[in-house]
Amino acid sequence: TKASGRGGYQFFDPAADVRLQALADLKLSLRDALARDEFHLVYQPVIDAVQGTVSSFEALIRWQHPERGLVSPADFIPLAEETGWIIAIGGWVLREACKQAATWPEGISVAVNFSAVQFEGRNMEAEIGSALKDSGLAPGRLVIELTETILLQDDDAKNKALRALRGLGVRIAMDDFGTGYSSLGYLRRFPFDTIKIDQSLVRGLPDGAGGDAIVYAVISLAHSLGISVTAEGVETPAQFELLRQQGASHVQGYLFSRPVQASEIPSLLTRRFAE
Ligand code: C2E
Ligand code: CA
Ligand code: CA
Ligand code: CA
Repeated sequence: TKASGRGGYQFFDPAADVRLQALADLKLSLRDALARDEFHLVYQPVIDAVQGTVSSFEALIRWQHPERGLVSPADFIPLAEETGWIIAIGGWVLREACKQAATWPEGISVAVNFSAVQFEGRNMEAEIGSALKDSGLAPGRLVIELTETILLQDDDAKNKALRALRGLGVRIAMDDFGTGYSSLGYLRRFPFDTIKIDQSLVRGLPDGAGGDAIVYAVISLAHSLGISVTAEGVETPAQFELLRQQGASHVQGYLFSRPVQASEIPSLLTRRFAE
């Protein structure tokens, strides 16, 4: 890119230029991706740590780009947030996930990720209510996953919005707990049903040092507040064993299953992941 600094210097970095161009191209193709039907959802099972059976699936978006192949949500969700297109894309995810979940056995829930942008100045209660109604999915089978960035401003407004959602009967999970600005105070102030302990904390288990103690403290505090705990990114049997011993009620990670296509769900529902 050509940039003229305040001091009048000019520089040209060909590698940065290529990266910026690639980003601009990605943005252009993202604009039409929804209309071109290039998104689909995959589903990762969340396992009941005691029963060893699937209790829900988290819906995760995938973008099949015509030339680049599969693009990671980590690369395009930030672009979608910045442009505001996440509102249309997120609406599609919600409807698609509810429609899919309505075909599953009644005890199985679906978790949908929401960006903070989707809540800004918008009535999510109406949007979620209509997705439930149109799909016929019982509200208690929908879990809304939010990261704590949503709680950083407007405590009162956000608190109200979340309570309104709960009024619909849906459940609310705090995603990526233990990253960024996590505050245990949020757990008291906001009406969460579940916290999801981030994989960055789970990855270190067992470390024989302080890291484990943090995870255990979070689990025990959540329990004392009546909040259930899902541990994310569980990759080894040792991690699973520890988390279960410490009372994590649910676990999710490659140890059990990667995210799968909807067609693979029936076979996952027959599996047991613990003795
Ligand atoms: P997330 O909500 O924290 O989702 C968990 C991510 O961890 C997923 O990556 C999942 O495939 C990955 N994962 C699961 N188990 C393991 C494991 O054992 N080890 C490792 N290393 N990773 C594991 P994915 O699907 O690439 O999604 C990345 C992020 O993109 C999500 O993080 C979420 O923040 C965002 N995202 C995905 N789908 C949506 C969506 O529909 N809407 C919004 N707003 N964000 C989404
Ligand atoms: Ca999530
Ligand atoms: Ca997460
Ligand atoms: Ca994450």
